[in-house]
Amino acid sequence: MEQTDIIYFDNAATSFPKPMQVYDEVRRSMLYGGGNAGRGAHRLSMAAARKIFDCRMIAADFFGCEDPEKVVFTMNTTYALNLAIKGLLKTGDRVIISDLEHNAVYRPICALARDRGIKYDIFDTGCKENTSDDKLCEGIERLIRRDTRMLICTCASNICSRTLPIEKIGRLCRKRGLIFVLDAAQGAGHISIDMKRMNIDVLCVPSHKGLYGPQGCGMAIFGDGIECDTLVEGGNGYDSLNVGMGEMLPERFEAGTLPAPVIAGLCEGIKSVMAVGVEQIAAYERALYARALEMLDNTDGVRVYAPQFAGGVLLFDLDGFTSEQVASELDRYGICVRGGYHCAALAHKTLGTRASGAVRLSFGRYNKMSELEAFWRALRSVKDMR
Ligand code: PMP
Repeated sequence: MEQTDIIYFDNAATSFPKPMQVYDEVRRSMLYGGGNAGRGAHRLSMAAARKIFDCRMIAADFFGCEDPEKVVFTMNTTYALNLAIKGLLKTGDRVIISDLEHNAVYRPICALARDRGIKYDIFDTGCKENTSDDKLCEGIERLIRRDTRMLICTCASNICSRTLPIEKIGRLCRKRGLIFVLDAAQGAGHISIDMKRMNIDVLCVPSHKGLYGPQGCGMAIFGDGIECDTLVEGGNGYDSLNVGMGEMLPERFEAGTLPAPVIAGLCEGIKSVMAVGVEQIAAYERALYARALEMLDNTDGVRVYAPQFAGGVLLFDLDGFTSEQVASELDRYGICVRGGYHCAALAHKTLGTRASGAVRLSFGRYNKMSELEAFWRALRSVKDMR
């Protein structure tokens, strides 16, 4: 099947396709900037270093971070979250998380509960009752205890379109002296994020989803005054005679060779999102959501979860089929969606879909309304197989 025949509704896993300038820049970077950044002062090494610094500047600007040196490149969002969680939480600390967390947050927290005796409390995001933002924050306040040190939550769910009131949560964390770590794997590029205004201490984002960069990197962007331990140690071309990683950011957290071509592509991805505008992209995704919801509401045997939260992610199931069966039958029509649990056991428990998982449609800026018509036709054919 030609790539052009494919309908891709799995943008929450990774966005596809990317803007053409991303593909072009990865290629250009490999051809003309093929040295190792920070390892030597020759022209090819400097060319790679310049591209990486450009990306730090663009990312800092995009996310309201005043200092580009606080932008740390990681392997992906999961690595950035592990860095923040394991580098900041100490034995006996207590942390608050939401009931919509992805395993990228939940598993490291559970690992620290086992290994360091940390304790965690889970706040209710009100997915079922449509709780107001103020009530959600009151719920968080009730969980704060003397030993609570951090709040970490997702910006937006990866299985429904629930977005959390980040600015209010950030203000609350600042008032109560909690470190605020934000998992923006699903928020970055869909919601405007300003670290300073939102009081975010560590922002964890991927290259490959809403920022339309390649797979292979993510970022942990640090706010002021955050003292974090390293997760990995090694060479970075800086202060090589020292046995330690030093205190300087970003070098302290960037051990080993960075994926310069990927970072160069990410830089173009962010620029393309800036050029279109986050609000514009989000509005288009909401329009796709509204049309998809209308179609699913008119299909017997379909149940949509959390339909009140319109956005880029829609979760449903179809009577008589497992979610994996629906996903693989749709794939026969060239339609890419994801069934199962989406690495989010906690979130599926919250939505009441833990027993069987569900089918996720996730939209991106390159989806077309006409693709939804094709999806609907295919879904009705799948339904008629029963
Ligand atoms: N958090 C959320 C909410 C996610 O949706 C994902 C990716 N599915 C991650 C974290 C992990 O992102 P990555 O694959 O870049 O590590």
